[in-house]
Amino acid sequence: MINHERVADNVFSFQSDVYAQVNAGVIAGPNWAVVIDTLAYPEETLAIREFVEQELKVPVRYVINTHYHADHSWGNVFFPGAFVISSALCRQLLAERGRPSLDEARRQNSSIFRQVRIVLPHLTFEKGEVGLIVGKKTLKMLPLPGHSADGIGVLVEEDRVLFSGDVMMPLPYLVDGNIDQMETSLRHMLKMGLENVIQGHGDIVLRGEIDGAIEDNLKYLAKLRKVAQDAGARRFPLDLLERVSVQSCGKSRVLIGGLAEDLHQRNLIAVYRFLFGKNPIGSEEVHEDDLDEDYEEYEDEDYEDEYEEAPIRVRDGYAEDEEEEGEEFERDEDTGVGFTTETDLEEEDFE
Ligand SMILES: [Zn+2]
Repeated sequence: MINHERVADNVFSFQSDVYAQVNAGVIAGPNWAVVIDTLAYPEETLAIREFVEQELKVPVRYVINTHYHADHSWGNVFFPGAFVISSALCRQLLAERGRPSLDEARRQNSSIFRQVRIVLPHLTFEKGEVGLIVGKKTLKMLPLPGHSADGIGVLVEEDRVLFSGDVMMPLPYLVDGNIDQMETSLRHMLKMGLENVIQGHGDIVLRGEIDGAIEDNLKYLAKLRKVAQDAGARRFPLDLLERVSVQSCGKSRVLIGGLAEDLHQRNLIAVYRFLFGKNPIGSEEVHEDDLDEDYEEYEDEDYEDEYEEAPIRVRDGYAEDEEEEGEEFERDEDTGVGFTTETDLEEEDFE
């Protein structure tokens, strides 16, 4: 039986133990149920369906996708009798990027994704909010972009339980997103009067912890902005970005199954790109002969002092590995979370 928690009457959440603590939800009425997001692997998504059909003894009539990323939408195919609902942009992005991404995943891991095909949402909305009544519960779907442009949340109004999608995670992740939008979405959540937040990944956030957790993410985003701004004033911004650890930005490195440092580095580069519209360059990319004398003046000690908690990365020895990871990341950037790449990472991390 898959890991699940009863969040409120007829409201359940499910967490993957194999892929990045990704979450899904179920809201059940007397005659049918709604699933919010599917999980990364078919067997886990099928376990949710089995739970609904065997334990709750109702069929799944609707599946809501909070956004188009693989770990939230690729399981639509396992609910053949259900209507899939999402934002209009989610449908568009899934149509454009889902199939190429699935083809790539199949090339790397053919057996797991054999039964998967991309099922596009049947019902979509452009903006504003949409209600769906399930038994005695009212689900309100509302835009929460930032992790990706198409993001929505699902609020169970009677219980003040929010399924936030990936805009809320223990460590914000911005590579396919927009820092302005994420800040706006998080500030909106602060005003919603919530009892529980089921984040896209990670543990359920309970009432007493919600404001603190959101503020903490907002602080982290502010720190990313500051570091990217500082880097922008330097000749070799990447040198600074690579030196600023996740801990020095106020987040633990053990979050998201140990992927935090890696995701954090990608965040810094994403925010730099967002602010300056280009990739940060590092001194290693520039040929020695091209360095002129004023290079020295950028080698001041200010940043070492300010970011003293940040360990300076040892570049020798694993520079090649880093490059390889970078390449995988570039290829998967369109779909946000690098699905197959991170699947491999995860399996190691969790064992
Ligand atoms: Zn996700």
